[in-house]
Amino acid sequence: MRVTENSVVRFHYDLYNKDGELLESSREGEPSIYLHGANNIIRGLEQALEGSEPGARLEVELSAEQAYGRRRDQLQQRVPIKHLLFKGKLRAGMAVQLNTDKGRRSVTVTKAGRHSADIDGNHPLAGQALRFVVDVVDLREAEPEEIAHGHAHGPGGHQH
Ligand code: ZN
Repeated sequence: MRVTENSVVRFHYDLYNKDGELLESSREGEPSIYLHGANNIIRGLEQALEGSEPGARLEVELSAEQAYGRRRDQLQQRVPIKHLLFKGKLRAGMAVQLNTDKGRRSVTVTKAGRHSADIDGNHPLAGQALRFVVDVVDLREAEPEEIAHGHAHGPGGHQH
C-alpha cells in the first residue's frame, strides 16, 4: 500500500531549521496522523509523502514559500489589549487569540504595554526554510466519514 489520495497516514517527524537546529519532533509521543490530499499538513510535505510506503524515511527540504510562507509585515500591528484573549500576565513571546471582526486569530505578542500590545500574526515558522525527516509509520484507507470531514479521526487526529 502506498500513500495516495484518501490515505490516512501516521508518521513521525523531526523538524530542523536551515542551521540544523531541531525545532520540533513527534518522536516522544504519538505519531502525527493526517488525511492525504486534504490539505491537513503543509503542501510541500504532503507532496513528498505521495507514493511512499510504511517504513519509508524521507528527508524533505522546503523553502519558506513551500513551508509556511514568507513573513508579511502587514501582519504586525499594535492593538488594544481588550481585543486579546489570554490567561495570566501578558508577556512578549506569548501566543494569544486576537478578536477581529472576522473571528479569532492566533497571534504572537512581541511587546506588551499597559493598554496596548504589539502583535505578530505571522506563523512562528513563516519566512524560514525547513528540513523535515519523516518516517512513515503506517497507513490505511480513510473511512467515508473522514473523507466527508476532510480530516483523519482517531488517536492523534481529530476527535469528536
Ligand atoms: Zn471529523
